[in-house]
Amino acid sequence: MKKLLFLALVIFSSAGSGCGPEPLYSDNRLLMGTTIEVVSPDKRACQIVFDEIARVEKLLSIYDPESEIARLNRFGFIKASPETAFIVKKAIEFCRASEGAFDITVGSLVDAGGFKNNAFRVPTSAQIRGLLKTVGCDKIILNECDNVIQFKLSGVKINLGGIGKGFALDSAVKELRKHKIRSCLINAGGQVYALGRCFDKPWKLGIRDPRGKRLIGFLVLENQSVSTSADDQRFFIKEGRRYRHIIDPATGYPATSGLISVSVVASDGVTADALSTAIIVLGAKKGRELLRKFPGAQLVSAVEEDTVEH
Ligand code: AMP
Ligand code: MG
Repeated sequence: MKKLLFLALVIFSSAGSGCGPEPLYSDNRLLMGTTIEVVSPDKRACQIVFDEIARVEKLLSIYDPESEIARLNRFGFIKASPETAFIVKKAIEFCRASEGAFDITVGSLVDAGGFKNNAFRVPTSAQIRGLLKTVGCDKIILNECDNVIQFKLSGVKINLGGIGKGFALDSAVKELRKHKIRSCLINAGGQVYALGRCFDKPWKLGIRDPRGKRLIGFLVLENQSVSTSADDQRFFIKEGRRYRHIIDPATGYPATSGLISVSVVASDGVTADALSTAIIVLGAKKGRELLRKFPGAQLVSAVEEDTVEH
């Protein structure tokens, strides 16, 4: 049965129109494969955020052959920076908490579907069976003393697409705080962090309906992140079947929970990002059980496929 769960909402975009008597500075840049929009009453904020996100992208991107993650995937071994080791450690924790629904070792399956370069193809079931042998967080060995990361098997590939933007936002916020900037909204294509307040009010985000037609609500955030994972954004259709970019690590095929859009609010970007991806795989019921392990994290929207129009 097709039905509407919770609120049929997705995050619209940052509030750029002003929230107080003084001007807000805003700018945007193409980074991490998306447009990063920054709004702040402090004119230094935009550049600080762009520089920090560009720095994180250089560590984590699978598109840059010299990034730490690309080299780890190539050699199966790396002495990583403390930050790369930290995000891999967090990813392993989310993998365990979600009983494997969130799993960064889906890299080879994401590549096999052609999602990395938009050269989409359907892997054969034999290919998927083979690649599944390289999936599982237990295939990653992380030595926290020296930040050495290695894979137990050859062929393992990690992909931080489900958690990297959240980490980049958290890093940017840390950098803003270092510069004593206490108010800023960053929108990284559906992944938002709202630092502090906009003058004397919390940041307010417009929310549109999943069909993209009109504003139907607002979300109010203060020192919080919201992440939307939408499994209708990157997909291709082959022989009437829709293949999506979020993979169920249990089967090796795209997730089939029926959820196409999930928005999670949390006090940090990494948590919101990882949980929204995990819940697309788990579905709403198991997703709510997962959220109970993360006090402060909230499911603000979960949209099932073919929900009724507003
Ligand atoms: P997001 O937009 O944050 O939900 O992340 C989606 C991206 O995460 C995909 O494009 C893949 O790169 C990666 N991914 C796909 N399936 C999973 C999964 N089950 N666990 C973790 N990351 C995944
Ligand atoms: Mg995510």
